[in-house]
Amino acid sequence: MNKRTKIVATLGPSSDDENTIAHLIEAGMDVARLNFSHGTHEEHANQIHILRKLSNRFKKPVTILQDLQGPKLRVGNLPEAGMTLNVGEQVVLCDPHIKLSDPQLAHIPTIPLEVPNLIQSVKKGKRILLDDGYLEISVTDIKEDYIMGRVVLGGTLKSHKGVNLPRIDLKIPSFTEKDYKDLTFGLEMGVDAIAISFVQNAQDIQKVRSEMKKLRSDLNVPIIAKMERPEAIDNLEEILAAADGVMVARGDLAVETSPSSVPIMQKRIIQQANAHHKIVITATQMLESMIHNPRPTRAEASDVANAIFDGSDAVMLSGETAVGSYPLESVQMMSSIIIEAEKNYEKWGSYHFLPDKPTQDDAVSITRAARELAKDRNVSCIAVFTQSGTTALMMSKARPNVPIMAFTSEKNTFQKLGLFWGVTPFLVPYADNVENMVSYVEAIMLSNNLLAPGEQFILLSGHPIGAMRPPNMMLLHTLGAPV
Ligand code: PEP
Repeated sequence: MNKRTKIVATLGPSSDDENTIAHLIEAGMDVARLNFSHGTHEEHANQIHILRKLSNRFKKPVTILQDLQGPKLRVGNLPEAGMTLNVGEQVVLCDPHIKLSDPQLAHIPTIPLEVPNLIQSVKKGKRILLDDGYLEISVTDIKEDYIMGRVVLGGTLKSHKGVNLPRIDLKIPSFTEKDYKDLTFGLEMGVDAIAISFVQNAQDIQKVRSEMKKLRSDLNVPIIAKMERPEAIDNLEEILAAADGVMVARGDLAVETSPSSVPIMQKRIIQQANAHHKIVITATQMLESMIHNPRPTRAEASDVANAIFDGSDAVMLSGETAVGSYPLESVQMMSSIIIEAEKNYEKWGSYHFLPDKPTQDDAVSITRAARELAKDRNVSCIAVFTQSGTTALMMSKARPNVPIMAFTSEKNTFQKLGLFWGVTPFLVPYADNVENMVSYVEAIMLSNNLLAPGEQFILLSGHPIGAMRPPNMMLLHTLGAPV
């Protein structure tokens, strides 16, 4: 059986060329993440062009996930060697465009911060984190045009490093002008899913969805909310109701909260996402040491396996494939950890994503029933016919112990199914009756050597066919037998 948990790999300078991308696909990359914090539109257009070309060649949809930068805050310009911050020392934090005239400040180190509304929003005692939280300043006083602070974690600060402001509401939109331009470009290029950064609440998602509708009312591109701010954790329920999926963005999440709280937040986000039948990706530093080494640490291998057991639909590689020395080995390693973990999924994995209680929800009832029938009759796969992808998603969340083959005549749906746990997508002509459905499944299973005559499969669909309704029809069929 193929691996079931999907791999999201970030493309970058280490993995931009056609040959490397082809190898990444062969090694198990299901989703290519294009990180719009880096790279030009021209570079991203080239990545998309290569991905589509290779997808066709391999007859495997590689889902393209556009990751919008969001309001990334940064340190301004500093001397080449950076500036040294010593623990306990007093510092001034100030907008680089403001010239401070007070002569008393001349001897105090000044950190240029490009952060809108900071003075109006910050309070004494708040933490200002620099360079992924490796440096920390505690705010001691707020003046009219600058902030005084004390260094809590010291070190060397360099130009343009990231700034994190946990629990400081700058009252700036999480969807920036740059995001708007990037989204316009992404939709024109036909990306399959959009990730949005530094989400705080459901409105942040609704805003992107409405901009998307204005730009392309004909598309329904899934939105993945990156969970990286403590406010997003407070608002997890409403975010899950508004988004199509979430990413446990453990990098910024750890900076904004604390590394020790991330494992528990990860479990909670994954559990809630599954309970809402939403896609969940676990991200960041999964095989971090493979940026420089051909083998991961034992702790990293365990981390990937545990994210799978928690119930992730997909696990993500960032720097490992984007800028690392071993992009291919990272995907190969992730695939092998996934395969090994999945052999033990029944013993250690999470299952209870669909409620066990009686329900009036057709999709829950029928996918739950299909999962049980698959066990009862030892069937080889579950074939779902899906127009929007919803039936495939619900079947995936039922976590059956056999592969899910998803058949669709919709190109956009076909492309996004790469993100769904346990789902292998197939693009077929529209089937308007059960006989056609069965014959498409049989032809594809036989031509790809996936099933042999005499093996059984389950077919799921909505009925009447074409009514675009939740699945309510289930057929147990033996390959080759008359319908
Ligand atoms: C993260 O912070 O974990 C993350 C995925 O965000 P990015 O890499 O886009 O900063």
